[in-house]
Amino acid sequence: MITYKLLTPGPLTTSRTVKEEMMVDHCTWDNDYKQITQHVRAELLALAHVSPEEYTCVLMQGSGTFGVESVLISSVGRDGKLLILSNGAYGERQADICRHAGISYVLKKYNYNQIPDAGDVAQILQDDPEITHVSMVHSETTSGILNDIEAVGKVVKAAGKVFVVDAMSSFGGVEIPVADWGIDFIVSSANKCIQGVPGFTFIICRLDELKKCEGKSCSLSLDLYDQWKGMFDGKWRFTSPTHVVLAFAKAMEEMKEEGGIPARSKRYYDNNRFLIEEMEKLGYKTYIDREHQGPIITTFFYPENCSYTFKEMYEFIKERGYAIYPGKVTEAETFRIGNIGEIYKEDIEKLIAIYKEFLSDK
Ligand SMILES: *Cc1c(COP(=O)(O)O)cnc(C)c1O
Repeated sequence: MITYKLLTPGPLTTSRTVKEEMMVDHCTWDNDYKQITQHVRAELLALAHVSPEEYTCVLMQGSGTFGVESVLISSVGRDGKLLILSNGAYGERQADICRHAGISYVLKKYNYNQIPDAGDVAQILQDDPEITHVSMVHSETTSGILNDIEAVGKVVKAAGKVFVVDAMSSFGGVEIPVADWGIDFIVSSANKCIQGVPGFTFIICRLDELKKCEGKSCSLSLDLYDQWKGMFDGKWRFTSPTHVVLAFAKAMEEMKEEGGIPARSKRYYDNNRFLIEEMEKLGYKTYIDREHQGPIITTFFYPENCSYTFKEMYEFIKERGYAIYPGKVTEAETFRIGNIGEIYKEDIEKLIAIYKEFLSDK
């Protein structure tokens, strides 16, 4: 079996010790197991800088999209109207969710290298009083751009609307004071910056908004309110991904040992900036300008008159121990390199050495 490290935005490279946690089969209604679930929920609230009096954390089976869908169908529902601010594929996916569920929405689109503007949001909310909710992505993994959810949150709160954030690829990797920034629902998943394995998503919810979700969901399994009610003592409503939860609890412990979000964020930022600097020396340019480039993943342009394909580059790098990612922006030829997970400076150094070797006969 060929093994390689993942320079992708999740699933990502996890530690051996996180993977080893999955060697145990746990009983779902056993008290020990329920306590692990409760512990994870409490720790996630702490990472979000919110209190259990104001917020709760709901865990939900499935990948990150299940969590976003759960919030939109349970909170916006069929009587609300959602404004989606989008500068990438994950913003567009929210519109897709709304189309499937019959939720009314307005999609405000931006170029993929441009951040949504809080001034625009204020204007749209003023012009369309029917809008009840505003949602956006924090770290748009499509490009690697980091959006200004703080600025938009201020405007959304001033207008008295509900604010939903997809922080899938940033939660745990970037500090997000959830209450201070006016966020009512924030979604992430097990296999991103907390560095667990894929299998569930989590939603940190403002309690008073969550309570309004009762009976609104058009889906049984994605009903956020019912999932929360059922989880009061740590028991999952339907079969829980036990191995994934154990691995996640371990991943949270390892995050603490690393020094929490500040230390992890610094590692991601340092490695990301180092990667960009070294890639620029090799002639690659980034799609996102430095001011808005996040620390999670970077989109690079191919050089002019490029003589190789993504597949050639990918295979060459993979044979030497790393997997990179194809581009996802629509208007340019690009590829992406992620730097979250168990990735350290020496990995970036090795990757750059591989690039030098790859480029030497190009
Ligand atoms: C990973 C990710 C998601 C969720 O994608 P899944 O494939 O459903 O896990 C949603 N939004 C963003 C920004 C992401 O990076």
